Amino acid sequence: MIEFEQRSQGVAATLAGHKIDALLVTSPANIRYLTGYTGSNGLVLVAGSFLYFFTDPRYATETKGNIYGKVQVCKGPLIDFAARVLKSKRLKRIGFEPGHMNVEQHEKLRKALPAGFALKAIAGVVEALRSIKSASEIVKIRASVQANSEAYFRTLKRIRLGARERDVAAELDFQMRVLGAEKPAFDTIVATGERTALPHAHPTGRRLEDNEFLLVDMGATLDGYTSDMTRMSYMGVPSKRNRALYKAVLEAQLAGLDAVRAGVPASRVDAACREVLKRHELDHAFVHSTGHGLGLEIHEGPRIARKEQTKLQAGMVITIEPGAYIEGLGGVRIEDTVLVTERGCEVLTPTSKELIQLS
Ligand code: ZN
Ligand code: ZN
Repeated sequence: MIEFEQRSQGVAATLAGHKIDALLVTSPANIRYLTGYTGSNGLVLVAGSFLYFFTDPRYATETKGNIYGKVQVCKGPLIDFAARVLKSKRLKRIGFEPGHMNVEQHEKLRKALPAGFALKAIAGVVEALRSIKSASEIVKIRASVQANSEAYFRTLKRIRLGARERDVAAELDFQMRVLGAEKPAFDTIVATGERTALPHAHPTGRRLEDNEFLLVDMGATLDGYTSDMTRMSYMGVPSKRNRALYKAVLEAQLAGLDAVRAGVPASRVDAACREVLKRHELDHAFVHSTGHGLGLEIHEGPRIARKEQTKLQAGMVITIEPGAYIEGLGGVRIEDTVLVTERGCEVLTPTSKELIQLS
């Protein structure tokens, strides 16, 4: 509970700077981060040294003693109960999360509050805290990364010529769960042949043919924490052209990893990948950003992108995932989950980046 207390204090410390007396937290991941609650109907109110947690009677038993904060079990809309606390404590300037409060909740709240109370949209308070992982969070991310890589390893051994994308994805998801994951962190991407040119390909019934790439982009959610990895394999012996494409993306990925260090703007890491691809005349084929933070959610801050000036800090966990996609031919992406350190980074993903030949 000490860690939750620190997090709550971390939020409370920002309130004055935003000129608010209280912050209503409605993002499920932020609620989990602040209280440990993993259910689907919760609401948090942080005010000074208090953290109130609201939920409904279905969660009364499991929240007892397991949730940080003053728990209120409510019969009715949680927002009404939060409004009561705000009124009774005279917390007049109230911040809310614009990306995570719906119009109905906002209306209800506005109507429940007397004159003199004001609502203010404040984005990213909890997210900023979440971007730097604690030691206990890093332990959980490591476990997620390990299970994810092991699921890939086990599945890869079973892939034969003619394997369908859908079946490979099902096997990956199955192995993840066997290895302790609650679920995949996102819909597992499996693409074969020319479909590897689609950065977000959803698995189809297409079968893996001879002389083509197989792209797998997968992540596990384990103990609430995510991982993210993309690896390529090849059915048969890669052609010169495909080998060159793979080598260029790998070189870009390694340059990206090399650029990661506390204090470096995220844009510089993105640029490091792009410069390599430019040298190979593939910069036009790199159509997405270089990476993203991850943790309780698969996409968190910071973004590793062209214009992202956020400076990396030790304890951030990010992905480095450049790719090159050539319509009609295919694409390559290589992605690791890495921990930013003062002097560089630790690549958490243990899976080899050698281009595996399947047979
Ligand atoms: Zn990925
Ligand atoms: Zn990713």
